[in-house]
Amino acid sequence: MAIEVLGKSAEELRVLAASWGEPAYRGSQIYHALYAERRFDFAGMTNLPAALREKLSAEARITMPRIARRYHSADGSVRYLLALESEGAAPVQVEAVFMPDTKEDARRQTICISTQAGCAVDCHFCLTAVLGLNRNLSAGEIVGQVLVVLEDQREHLLPQTNVVLMGQGEPLLNYDAVMTAVRILLDQRGVSLAPKHVTLSTSGIVPGIERMGKEKARPKLAISLNASTDEQRYAIMPINRKYPLGVLLEACRKYPLGPNEWITFEYVMLGGFNDAPEDARRVAKLLANIPSKVNLIPWNPGELPYKRPTQESVEAFKQILMDKGVFAFVRISRGQDIMAACGQLALIESKEIVIKEREVLRSAQNDT
Ligand code: SF4
Repeated sequence: MAIEVLGKSAEELRVLAASWGEPAYRGSQIYHALYAERRFDFAGMTNLPAALREKLSAEARITMPRIARRYHSADGSVRYLLALESEGAAPVQVEAVFMPDTKEDARRQTICISTQAGCAVDCHFCLTAVLGLNRNLSAGEIVGQVLVVLEDQREHLLPQTNVVLMGQGEPLLNYDAVMTAVRILLDQRGVSLAPKHVTLSTSGIVPGIERMGKEKARPKLAISLNASTDEQRYAIMPINRKYPLGVLLEACRKYPLGPNEWITFEYVMLGGFNDAPEDARRVAKLLANIPSKVNLIPWNPGELPYKRPTQESVEAFKQILMDKGVFAFVRISRGQDIMAACGQLALIESKEIVIKEREVLRSAQNDT
């Protein structure tokens, strides 16, 4: 079986080079060519001697995600359906989204990537949840999504790239692969993104949050909060039974933050469910003593049975938080016309089937 190079660290590639009787620094050169220069075939790694390129072509491989389909949104976002065909793993399809900055003084783009194929966490407002978990992605499959999108958009890239781990999957339930990929993304010799430009969003997996707090290189932390009481959160996020708000927010309070760092709390506003003024007051109370920023995300009306909040309720919610000293911003999801908006990263091809299955399941549960 050929050796998979995508996802390997600089150290692993140095060890590989040495095991072939090459100077270890050749491993660093492969690392640089792959992640910094985005050369996805060994023949193009002209910083290596011809004999080594030939050996690599014969004995190793770089399995990049294959772009199966592109969906272009009217707002400039592009949703990629990516086929992952790593040797020895079940072939799966996941999604990544490219979101250009459309402001006049635009200087960055954001790429949203997946960390698992499907997801087992079952947040009720999320279309990915209806797929269930297919499998974890490898470090190479995670970092490969960023590389393939950067390469596809090469002509349109602005100086700064933000990466958000908010696509399919719960990143902290695939911890080792995710952190290996994140290290390559943050490594100056690798993809070289700034830590403040990479954000990992979790539904609240407390042991993972504690573990990430101990990492030397780590992304920014975002928590998908979405509720102001345990009862409310449990109704839409069953994970709250395992890690209730008190436990989750205590882990956030203990999370080591630098002087200019904060935790982002995402709050999907579901009309008539969690968007009342008393919800805002409770959220402000919950976040007391946590350096935080709240992103309010008005629900995108779609296939799932929730309502979009009114403009007034969104503004009032934000004002209450601000008055209580909590920074709050309203985020409008991008790419709504191509199902690329947050929580909608389910495969269009399979969504109708799974939604129907879920409806049948729910009505069966209600009948018993
Ligand atoms: S919101 Fe995230 S954690 Fe929750 S089901 Fe969807 S993909 Fe999984």
